Formats: sequence, structure tokens, C-alpha cells
Amino acid sequence: MQFNLLVLYEFALLIQKFILVTKKMVRSFETPSILSSAQKDMTGESLNSHLSLWGDGMSEKGSREQIRQQNRDYILSTLRKEKLIARIELGQITGLSPATVTSITADLLELGLIVEHHEIANKEPKGRGRPRCMLGLQPNVACIVSVKLSVDHIQFLLCNFAGQITQQKIVNFSSRKATREHFTQLLIEELQDFLDENPIEAKHLAEIGLAVQGVVDTQKGTIVWSPALTDRDIDIVRTIKTHFGVNCLLSNDTNMIAEALYRANPNKYGENFVVIYMDQGVGAGFIIDGQLYTGQTGAAAEFGHSLHIPDGALCSCGRRGCLEAYMGDYAIIRQYNDMPVDSAPQQVGVEWKDIEEIIQAARAGNEKAKQVFSNLGKTLGIGITRLIALLDIKKIYLTGRTTSAYDLMQDSLVNSLDESLVSSLDNELSIEVLQGDESLIERGIVAKAMQRLDKKLLAKR
Ligand SMILES: [Zn+2]
Repeated sequence: MQFNLLVLYEFALLIQKFILVTKKMVRSFETPSILSSAQKDMTGESLNSHLSLWGDGMSEKGSREQIRQQNRDYILSTLRKEKLIARIELGQITGLSPATVTSITADLLELGLIVEHHEIANKEPKGRGRPRCMLGLQPNVACIVSVKLSVDHIQFLLCNFAGQITQQKIVNFSSRKATREHFTQLLIEELQDFLDENPIEAKHLAEIGLAVQGVVDTQKGTIVWSPALTDRDIDIVRTIKTHFGVNCLLSNDTNMIAEALYRANPNKYGENFVVIYMDQGVGAGFIIDGQLYTGQTGAAAEFGHSLHIPDGALCSCGRRGCLEAYMGDYAIIRQYNDMPVDSAPQQVGVEWKDIEEIIQAARAGNEKAKQVFSNLGKTLGIGITRLIALLDIKKIYLTGRTTSAYDLMQDSLVNSLDESLVSSLDNELSIEVLQGDESLIERGIVAKAMQRLDKKLLAKR
């Protein structure tokens, strides 16, 4: 009898250990909304049924629901990318089991979020074909508006639930001359006009995503500071929500670039990377463990405004010595034209054609122009060194118009990294230039807004 009790006790301990291991596995699924291939294989029926055998009530139920939500999210984002797709292909792309795909698509059909399209595939010469049932998103379920604020421009995009951009508009205005009141009024009026011009879509407006150059406070919903505007601490989210009665998400523009890259291809860009944007200003976006990292108030990754040289050159943010004050477009003009380092960035008067002329001069052998880009490469290298030392990141992507001069900066960048990096840190470091895609910011705004919209619609289930 005593022996039997001991065996039972040992057996109970073994079961407890197994449950703990299972719970640990479940926790590892909580973070990414786009799953790696190894995870995908385990998110279907097998893990769910396993949990139902060994689970202990609400916590496993909650985890199962979370996995199901992630799978629905993944199916919706795949449909948005593929437009029309058969269930079997949906399973192949997502790695989900046929039973999971069938169950989730049945839910989505019932909610009216997707529709079936019957088409004839594999047409044979005699005119007989095999009917195929394709799935597609119902475009009119909801729409979102993307708003991008940059110096002297506001861009509006209207995007339907299927992820198609149906309308766009660019408003030009002298942004730095606009007061807080003028800017807010203009934004509201122009957005209202944009919606009035598209009344059918506007009826289904569900989300407004707003990306701004500079520093934002996502908790308060304020533009803390932007090079596009003179006034600070602009309470924009509350104003938009009050006027349009829908959710509004405020972000920094470079964060939206990181979001766009990760959402477009997580396998390619990876779960951990930094994207550095070099254009009028300089910014960075961090993807850490498959999530956009924005810090407590959304102001993390203000790479361009981290201190480079104490009491150094005047920056567009009003402080001295920021990295941007040595890398932004106004810094290039200031150096090339021997202007004082405390010339106000807003007064330097930069046009992109001026930067292009300096790039061409450098390529033609102009020593002064070459030195400007060599200095820029060195500063960038110092900045990247700090990021790597802090975050242990191995992948850096560079984007923005200034990267078109990457060939002119590359040597000094590499030297700068060689001098500054501890040798153990530069192993496997990759720096890649992403050129030719001007739409990354708005693609990120749309991806983020769609993610929130999907969550909201699926919560009804
Ligand atoms: Zn600054």
C-alpha cells in the first residue's frame, strides 16, 4: 500500500512538471502577432487539444483564446496581402492546420469580414473547369484614414478593410508659420473635406492613424515637438477623437517605418532590428522581440536627438550637439557652405535639389563635398555603435533620401565602426540600405491601424 502511494505521488509530481512545461510553452506564444515558422506548426489543433487534456481551467482557456486571436489576426493579414486565396493556400502560407483555417474562416464569414468568390480554375480545352472557392476580405466593412505630417505637407490616405488605398490627398501649407490653433483647425477642416469627398467610405470610418516627424507622447496624445511646427505640446488626439468620434493613434514617423518593414516580412527583417531614417531629420525605430518598442510615452528611439557633442552644433529641436545637427539635411548644407554651426536649421533653407548637387559634386571629386559625406558616415558610425552597445542589435537598416549618398559615406562609416566597436560586438553585424521606397511611413500607419481595427472587430466574437 505504502509503495502504491509513493508511486502515485511520483506520478503526480511528473504530471505537475509537465503542466509547468506546457504553461511555459504557452507564454512564449504571447508576444508575436506574426509567428515564426517553428511557432506556426504548433499553434493549430495539436497544441490546443494537448492543453485541453492537461490544462487547469481559466488560464489555459485564456491562452487558447489568445492563440486563436493570433491565428485570426494572421489569417486576416495574409488575406490583406494575397487579396483572393483558396483555403488550402491560406493554410500553406500561414502554416496553420486545415481544421484551424476552416474554423477561423467560418467565424470570419459569419462576422461578414470575408466573402467567398466562386471561380473556374484550370480551364480545360473543352471548356470544362474545376470550380474553386476563393476567399477575400469584404472591403466595405470599415475604412481607416492615414495622416502623415511633415514639413509643409499633410498627406491623407483612405484605405478600405481589404487594405486597398482608394483615395489620397496632399495639403501644402507653411507649416512652420502655422500656430497651434491654425494647424489644428487646418488639419480638422482638410480631413473633414477629404471624408466629405468620399461619403460612402466615410460612413465606415473606424480608425485614424497619425504619424508625425519629431517627438510624440502617445499616452497624452500630444505632439511634444516636431520640426514641421513651431508650437510645442499640441493636444491633437483628443481634438481628432472629439471631432470625428473614432479612435486615433499618434506615432512618430520612423516608428511607422519599422512597423511597415516588420509587418511586410518578419522573416526577412527579423524579430530584432533598428531602422535609421536619414532625410530632413534623423530618426530611428526599434523592433525588439517582434514588437515595436516605443517606450513608456512613445518617445523612445529619438536617435537623432541623442547627444553627440556637448555644446555642439544647433539642432532643429532647439538643443545643441544632437546627432541630427551633424546628419540632417540642414547639417549637410551648413557644412558645405561653411555656415556657422549655430545657424538656425529652419533658416538654412534646404531644398532636396541642393543636397543632390552636393552629392553630384562629391561623386565628381569635389574634396569639400566628399569631406561632408565622410563626416556624415563617421557620425552615423558613432551613433550605430551606441545602439549596438545598448541593444545588442545585429541588423541595422538605413532609409530616407540621404541614403542615396551611402557610397560616399561607407568607408568612413566602416572605419568609425571598427574604431568604436568592441570586437565581440561587430560579429554578424549587418547594415543594409533600403532605397527607393517613399511610402514606408504610410504603409506602417495603415498596418498599425488595421491591426487595431482587426482586434476590435474580432473582439465581438
Ligand atoms: Zn535635437
